[in-house]
Amino acid sequence: MEKKPHFLKALHWQIFFATILSIGLAILIRAMDLSPENQSAFRAPFSFIGDLFIRSLKLIVLPLVIVSIISGIQHMGSTSRLGKVGWKTLLYYLSTTFIAVTIGILIVNIIQPGVGLNLVVEGSVGVKPTPILDVFREIIPSNIFKTLAAGKMLATIFASFLFGIGLLSVGEKGKPVADLIDSLNAIVFKIVGWIMVTAPAGVFALFINTLLDPKLADLSIFFENLFLYMVAVIAGLGVHGFIALPLILFIFAKRNPFDYFSALGPALLTAFSTASSSATYPITRERTIDAGVSREAADFVLPLGATINMDGTALYEAVAAVFIANAIGIDLSFSSQLIIVFTATLAAIGAAGVPSAGLVTMIIVLEAVGLPPEGYVLVVAVDRVLDMCRTTVNVWGDAVGAAVVDASLKKDASL
Ligand code: ASP
Repeated sequence: MEKKPHFLKALHWQIFFATILSIGLAILIRAMDLSPENQSAFRAPFSFIGDLFIRSLKLIVLPLVIVSIISGIQHMGSTSRLGKVGWKTLLYYLSTTFIAVTIGILIVNIIQPGVGLNLVVEGSVGVKPTPILDVFREIIPSNIFKTLAAGKMLATIFASFLFGIGLLSVGEKGKPVADLIDSLNAIVFKIVGWIMVTAPAGVFALFINTLLDPKLADLSIFFENLFLYMVAVIAGLGVHGFIALPLILFIFAKRNPFDYFSALGPALLTAFSTASSSATYPITRERTIDAGVSREAADFVLPLGATINMDGTALYEAVAAVFIANAIGIDLSFSSQLIIVFTATLAAIGAAGVPSAGLVTMIIVLEAVGLPPEGYVLVVAVDRVLDMCRTTVNVWGDAVGAAVVDASLKKDASL
């Protein structure tokens, strides 16, 4: 029998202990009542290490989004399938993700986690959100090289989509590029793995820097707010997973949500424990087909869904962005919230189906509304638990999508 690796080898445990350690150290330093100068001198090296970590995340986010979208589309098979079921599938992906984000935004506005914390996160002064029309306009890049150099994520997502569909359309001729994308995919994932190895150190440094912020008068208030933030994410996921998606399933696929949910049980549990839609995909496929969905619908909706249809991730990114804005004392206007809805939908498309991918692409949402990417540190400590929950909703959303597309294919066939 294969020996189970020691639990300390698991990254999420390392991050967890790094967080606990940083809280312990922060409490100790705070008890020493240092002068403000000494406290900031103490923070300086941590701020430096944290910066290195954030920079490496930002370094990888662009290649990650590009290869993950192109390879997701590439694995759909052929464009003839794309024409027949593609539009329905895309419509399903986009509308359900949009519904999920809207639920998240509503709930986070009711719970309002983070309000009154007034933290200072590096880079949080003088931020200005882009006007909403510009956000829409800039989705179509006028110069792809400038877009890439400036790290404009939404335009990059759009261009990658277009490229992926083009690649699929040329069939055999695209084979060398398709192989190249596959191998780039493997390389980028390897590098992400390396960066994530440094996450415990990065999280430790970033977290301690935040907890020693002189403006944070009381640590317990911070944790109360962090807890409220988790409540907001989990409540939103609950509403989407237990109410919105079952309703969609019932209305559009005429299926009993309870039966379908229990048929999908093993896939949902795997999603919860692995926090990876891609790793869960074989089980999702098997369970969906076993529940009576046609192979055609399952094989079209599920592989692409595992990398681009992420209702849970989109909802989570929106809630996290509002929490971060609240925590650093930025009051988001209605149009900024609209931008969040829109960018979270797209950023989730760009997230790969692997653990913590949503945490990386959240930077896209933060930057779109002018929030500092460093704000990410406020949520990273509790990310794993939320990742498990959002991945379960991601996979559930894919499975419901397969049933809906299947029902519509059967309806077309009977006409
Ligand atoms: N872990 C998620 C998934 O695989 C992506 C994310 O980090 O939100 O579906």
